[in-house]
Amino acid sequence: MCSGKTPSRLNGSAKAGDRYIVTALVASHIDDQLIPLSRVLQSVLNVSTGRDWYCSSRRWRMRYSTLHEVWIDLNVIKATEHLTLHCKDLDIFENSTTLFSLPPSMNASEDISMMSIASMSSGGEVTRSLKNRTTERRLDLLTLHLENPLQEGGRYRLHLKYKGQLSKALSGFYRVAYTDKANITSWLATTTFEPTEARRAFPCFDEPIFKARFQINLARPDSLSTLSNMPLRSTTVDAKKPGWVWDHYEESPLMSTYLVSFYVGNLQSVERTLAEGGTPFKVWARPGATEQTRFALSMGPEMLRFLGDYIGVDNPLPKQDVLALPNFISDALENWGLISFGEKYLLYQPGVSSSSSQQKIATILGHELAHNWFGNLVTMRWWDDIWLNEGFATYFSTLAVNHVRPEWDIHSLYAVNSFLKVFSVDALHTSHPLIPSADTPSDLHQIFDAITYFK
Ligand SMILES: [Zn+2]
Repeated sequence: MCSGKTPSRLNGSAKAGDRYIVTALVASHIDDQLIPLSRVLQSVLNVSTGRDWYCSSRRWRMRYSTLHEVWIDLNVIKATEHLTLHCKDLDIFENSTTLFSLPPSMNASEDISMMSIASMSSGGEVTRSLKNRTTERRLDLLTLHLENPLQEGGRYRLHLKYKGQLSKALSGFYRVAYTDKANITSWLATTTFEPTEARRAFPCFDEPIFKARFQINLARPDSLSTLSNMPLRSTTVDAKKPGWVWDHYEESPLMSTYLVSFYVGNLQSVERTLAEGGTPFKVWARPGATEQTRFALSMGPEMLRFLGDYIGVDNPLPKQDVLALPNFISDALENWGLISFGEKYLLYQPGVSSSSSQQKIATILGHELAHNWFGNLVTMRWWDDIWLNEGFATYFSTLAVNHVRPEWDIHSLYAVNSFLKVFSVDALHTSHPLIPSADTPSDLHQIFDAITYFK
């Protein structure tokens, strides 16, 4: 459904009178009886994969349930007794759900990541207890009903403990197996959240308008490594589990939940960072396949620098990692600072791969890097404007590729390829407007097509 409500009370930077399409998915969040969030929401995602994982001498495996905790800071715009989040396929420990009031003196931008987990859990006053909870499965909504209302203007910290499952579905937080040359099977785990799968990894306000700062901590066996959107801040030994460590990541800038990402596994990296302030740039691949990252590394750092110079805004994040995943749900995904690729769209083997695969790798890599600005830094309020993300990323990709490889005449190729793709899709009865109606999670998965990317 649509509404003429403005987002001004949701987003302090919005101008009164701006158009805002309220779909069924977001309607419950902005109901007058519920809790709109300010744009300074902060989250700490503490992912413990510890209990159910183990290592052997030559390989590591994992069982598939994971333990997590999440802390979410809330600004209450209007008093409410109900708190609605997105949540899917997660087993929340109801007895551990708590709400702390935050002292008024605490600045909204105070660095939550500097607080220890112990102080976060016990330092505040538990002011609201949970009466019960209800779910709306069609929209993946979880509503916590409170004994006493949250006060207008108040600030609170919601703490949830829960258990999840590492699926094989290539979405949410999932696992991927691969076999190396010695015929040994290894596993990695990573995330694919766009558009509506972050809710399968942590309870959250899983819509692009609800940006938050994320500070992520990951537990791992010390034989593996982890990655996330931001640079690693520190690694500490887990005193309770011998052989395990915690990786603590820097706090992110404001970003939408669909861009959050983390990874654990034994991929290996090759780095190429341009001189004079270039963003540290690494491509990660299976052991034995790292040489095939050379072509991507010959293009990526230059394209990233070109885009920042051309747009006039420096690359927003301090590092760029790119994963070549043995199995992936699409070509690539623009997780901020941690782009994911299917191997065949990123790895290039001279003498084996075709020359056209070079153009495909460069074009997709340029597209995902352009998302650092178009979509990640500047984000649509709702998914019906996803064409702004994809259209600009596609166009700026051709500029970046042309800058590094002008001899390819990529603009001519782009014109032919994109026109043909759009004509063929737009001629079908299933064609849709550039700004489609997209209300439910299943609707959203249908709109990532040639019309959105190229029309
Ligand atoms: Zn894209």
